[in-house]
Amino acid sequence: MESSRPKELATRKPELFKEGVQTYHGSCHCGAVKFEVDLDLQYAKTNRCNCSFCAKARQWGIVVKPEQFRLVAGADNLSVYRFGSKSGDHCSCKTCAIKTHGTGYVEQLGGAFVGAIIACIDDLSEEQKDSLIYSHSNGKDDLWWEEPKFKNHL
Ligand SMILES: [Zn+2]
Repeated sequence: MESSRPKELATRKPELFKEGVQTYHGSCHCGAVKFEVDLDLQYAKTNRCNCSFCAKARQWGIVVKPEQFRLVAGADNLSVYRFGSKSGDHCSCKTCAIKTHGTGYVEQLGGAFVGAIIACIDDLSEEQKDSLIYSHSNGKDDLWWEEPKFKNHL
């Protein structure tokens, strides 16, 4: 994991985060769906995407390896949505409609991945979330590793 660590800080205030990989806890709005995700938030990259789904949801996520993510409650209460190239499953709570995560496979992103929704992580303070830097992905053109031309609306 250390070898894949980005060099640039992912936060304007690294002092707000513990060093190294920490387990964070997330949930949907009603609490039926719960997850854990292992992140180093001093360095991990968060992301916004311009694809037709993410742009409407104004989704703010972080891409991790499947082994860094654990669904701990609500597996039977998920609505799974696929569209377009079907390279990803968007998983939302059937009760409150909040998307907690997605799963997918994109060769250029290193194969199988989970996208956890930063806004659903409950043990991050507003100040911590506010300090995180995010990049943008051109998912609209299936070029997730490129910056889109227009991004302020995402
Ligand atoms: Zn819910």
